Amino acid sequence: MEAFTIGRNEKNHLALNHKTVSGVHAEVEISDDFKSYLLKDLDSSNGTRVNGRRIVTKNLQKKDKIEFGEEKVLGKDLISQVEKYVLKNRQDFSEEFGNLKLVEKNFKTKRDSIRKYFKLQSLGIRILITAFVIVLINVLKIEREIKTILTISAGLLGTVLATLSASEKKQNERLEELQDEFYLNFLCPKCKMDLSKRSWNYWKNQEKCPKCKCDWVAP
Ligand SMILES: [Zn+2]
Repeated sequence: MEAFTIGRNEKNHLALNHKTVSGVHAEVEISDDFKSYLLKDLDSSNGTRVNGRRIVTKNLQKKDKIEFGEEKVLGKDLISQVEKYVLKNRQDFSEEFGNLKLVEKNFKTKRDSIRKYFKLQSLGIRILITAFVIVLINVLKIEREIKTILTISAGLLGTVLATLSASEKKQNERLEELQDEFYLNFLCPKCKMDLSKRSWNYWKNQEKCPKCKCDWVAP
């Protein structure tokens, strides 16, 4: 990617209109993985200083205080402008898109385990209650104590239904939370278009984002 240029000239990516700033004063070189930025003075008349020291090249940090001639710029502001420039001009997002496969896989695994857990829990409760009623019938002898059995069974049934409905509600809450988290992360890495309606494999076959046209598969 072309370097990000800084200078008095309007054509620079960052134009600083001050008489101590040279026409093309400095540039920021962007590493191949887009993760680090090297600030380079381009033989400017009044020099570039970082944290009070004149530099020729310097790895850009957010906490840096930079001076182009007498024009002051904060490292974090310069980095945020370079990041915008990178995002706008970058075409290959295959690495980030590749990572979405794992996002989808994790979502499905967690969703299935929540469903399985609640299914087992509800099955467990039903088995326990059935066993309890059977024992009760045997202990109390059905002919003489039928009224007592019916009363206790009805009470138990009520408790079971309440427990199961609470458990189902909790399950739905957890599934919704998980779904929301997935929606927030399963996006085009460049334009943030929502991809959650289709599978990762479907999008991979498209090769490019239909909206911003960035590459999802390395060209
Ligand atoms: Zn996109």
